[in-house]
Order: sequence, then C-alpha cells, then structure tokens
Amino acid sequence: MSQYVIAPPSQAAIPVQGGGLFPVRRIFCVGRNYAEHAIEMGSDPTREPPFYFTKPADAVLTGGADMPYPPMTKQLHHEMELVVAIGKAGANIPVERALEHVWGYCAGLDMTRRDLQNEAKKTGRPWDMGKGFDHSAPMGPLRPAAGFDPSRGRIALKVNGAIRQESDLSKLIWSVPEVIANLSELVALAPGDLIMTGTPENVAAVQRGDLLEGVVEGVGEVHTRLV
Ligand code: MN
Repeated sequence: MSQYVIAPPSQAAIPVQGGGLFPVRRIFCVGRNYAEHAIEMGSDPTREPPFYFTKPADAVLTGGADMPYPPMTKQLHHEMELVVAIGKAGANIPVERALEHVWGYCAGLDMTRRDLQNEAKKTGRPWDMGKGFDHSAPMGPLRPAAGFDPSRGRIALKVNGAIRQESDLSKLIWSVPEVIANLSELVALAPGDLIMTGTPENVAAVQRGDLLEGVVEGVGEVHTRLV
C-alpha cells in the first residue's frame, strides 16, 4: 500500500514525434532573449546576463488541445519560443559540452497574463501569476536532438492565419548552449527539465476563439485554440 496520503499527481509529459512521452520535471524560461523583443518591452537589448522565471511542469498543454482563456486577465499575450528538453543531468556545464545534455526540441508558447506581469514589474513583486498559470505552456511534439542545429532556423507564429511573430534563432541574444551553461550554474539541470529560450518581437494580445499556430524550422509546430 502506498505511503501517500492522497493520490500522487499524474506525471506531466510531452509527446515525442514518432511515439513515446517525455516526462516534464521543471520549466525554466529565459526573459528578453531577442533584442527586438527587449526593446518592445522597454529594456536595453545589450548582453546583460540572462535571467529566468519558471512555470509549473503541469502548465504544459499538448496534442493541440484547446487552451482555456485564463482568469484574472484582460491582456493574454502570446510568446512564440524554441523549447529545449534536457535529457542528461549536469551542473556548471561548459558551453562547448552543453548540447550533449539536450534530449530534444519542440515549439512552444510562453502564454503570459501581461497585465499581471506589468503590475508585478511595477511593484517589484514576483512574475509567477503573470507567467505560471494553468495551461500557460502549449507545446508541440518533441523532436529528438540528433541532426538539429539550434543556432539558426525560422521561428514564427500565426494568429488566425496571419503572421504575428517572425524571426530567426540566430537572433537569440544568448544561444542555446550559452543558456544551458548559464542556467546550470544556478541550478543542477536534470532529465525532464525544459527551457523556454525566449520570444522574438511582436508579442500581442489574443482573444477567445483565436487559433495560434507556431513553427520552428527543423523542429516542428505547436497549435492551440483559445476557448
Ligand atoms: Mn517568454
């Protein structure tokens, strides 16, 4: 008989292209990692050290499922991102070894209650309720890492068929290996960890009924409809 006094939570997971499930441990997100997005957020786009926030693992929304419009916001924003899935543990990982820790990649959306995030910024409070709410991380299927070079590739998001965000992974201020190396100095990375690498410019609000379709060239797609 189990020692747990309530049923343990089910394991959050992301489907893998071609079959299988990748169990999600933690979700780390990089803030302001494309210069044009840093500028639109009113920040200096210089190479200041990367910073991070997190979402709960069970914020993942997979399989193209509908996303319920979240409560307590009038300004739900999309942020289209490349997501890195860690397969091998490590701390203080050197940049040149960083990609050895990657199991795969997927296209993902860092959905944001921008009004709550802006209020938190203004008052010096945590971003958690602006970023880490239920279903706030729609994810496409994971592509195994072999054969993919995360230093370039088109990243784009359509809303209701019209292009909203479009950039290239080559414009990341901190590259995927640099982010892994830096984050692994702050926490020991473990298999199952996801890293959302930041969004390019032209984040904007979406409404109930909108269809979001994102793509990262060479990785795959993510889609969800707001309901
Ligand atoms: Mn983001």
